[in-house]
Amino acid sequence: MMKLQCSILIKLLTFHVLAVLCASQQFDFFYFVQQWPGSYCDSKQCCYPNTGKPASDFGIHGLWPNYNDGSYPSNCDPQSQFDPSNISDLTSRIQEEWPSLACPSSDNLNFWSHEWVKHGTCSISNLDQHDYFAAALNLKEQLDLLQVLGKSGIHPNGEVYDLGSIKDAIKQGTGYTPWIECNRDESGNTQLYQVYMCVDTSGSNLIECPVFPHGKCSSNIEFPSF
Ligand code: 5GP
Ligand code: 5GP
Repeated sequence: MMKLQCSILIKLLTFHVLAVLCASQQFDFFYFVQQWPGSYCDSKQCCYPNTGKPASDFGIHGLWPNYNDGSYPSNCDPQSQFDPSNISDLTSRIQEEWPSLACPSSDNLNFWSHEWVKHGTCSISNLDQHDYFAAALNLKEQLDLLQVLGKSGIHPNGEVYDLGSIKDAIKQGTGYTPWIECNRDESGNTQLYQVYMCVDTSGSNLIECPVFPHGKCSSNIEFPSF
């Protein structure tokens, strides 16, 4: 009798553990990453897309699923390829907001495909291909970083700004603390390269970041023109 009860208990426990594992989130939050084209192009060779020079504005780099411990999943479904016909209703918005600056010049499809395969496939439990790209575009439209920075007198004019005031301006304008990634121009000056904001697993709402990436800018950074 005791043996029978134990085996039922073990089965119930196994079922419970499996159920928890299956229902668990495949990621904890997203980083929404925007790049400053001036800092991409003055640090290495860059090429404009076939459609011409992008606007002097932040562009989308990606929407990256992440774990709360700072690690992240990548390339989660080798079977899932990027198919532009899935996002045909988003074409004009995505061409404008998510330009590729890598060389050689392209129609941007390689960049979007890379982002889908590396990152988008890891949030497919929440967002299919169309909704993944739509979520990134909606976030970009919700987050006008250039306007937010401009309101605090921070402009892409080659001047040097205090890193703290850049963060404060974004926090004040959006309600959330950004993480800033820097790179260096050809003369070695540290400059504002990418802005990371955190987003909940629906891909729609900004949140405070559970964890920030590693790395540090200096306390004064350049904001180059583009
Ligand atoms: P890097 O080594 O230049 O910082 O990053 C190279 C690439 O790795 C990024 O473009 C992105 O695809 C991925 N990556 C780097 N850091 C993170 C991170 O903290 N979270 C996620 N999800 N991806 C990252
Ligand atoms: P990550 O793995 O860093 O998310 O994506 C970077 C990859 O996308 C690199 O292979 C890079 O060559 C390509 N790529 C294409 N266009 C761009 C661009 O405008 N910015 C960045 N950072 N990478 C781009």
